[in-house]
Amino acid sequence: MTEDVRELYQQIILDHNKKPKNFREIENPDRKVKAYNPLCGDQYTIFMTLEDDRVVDVSFQGSGCAISKASASIMTELVKGKTKEEAEQLFEQFHDLVTGKLEVDMFELGKLAAFAGVRDYPARVKCASLSWHTMHAALTTDTKTVTTE
Ligand code: ZN
Repeated sequence: MTEDVRELYQQIILDHNKKPKNFREIENPDRKVKAYNPLCGDQYTIFMTLEDDRVVDVSFQGSGCAISKASASIMTELVKGKTKEEAEQLFEQFHDLVTGKLEVDMFELGKLAAFAGVRDYPARVKCASLSWHTMHAALTTDTKTVTTE
């Protein structure tokens, strides 16, 4: 990764931390999943509205470090409007990216690639993947309220 690209990625994370997207509650959501990362103290609730097989709305509330918040913001942006299957594919891509299984192709991955840098810091991987695991839990459960760690 060149220095320019690294800076660009850092900027994406800083921007989303400062002005997170979909940072709100959804009233009467179909899914409400609480997430907690004890290693860092990141604590979020993910809200989701489903229509048939599609995620029509997804949002989050809570607090935590810049990486966890930016990741949640980008997750909601990417998953909103997707089918469950597409959302699950994104989850797998993200997981492979932050664990180093996937090579970084910034043109294909777009904003997701901003989190490639965390693969060298295991503690940060938890921060970056927290909201994604929570989204995954929301999609794979039939219960309305879930708590995940
Ligand atoms: Zn964190």
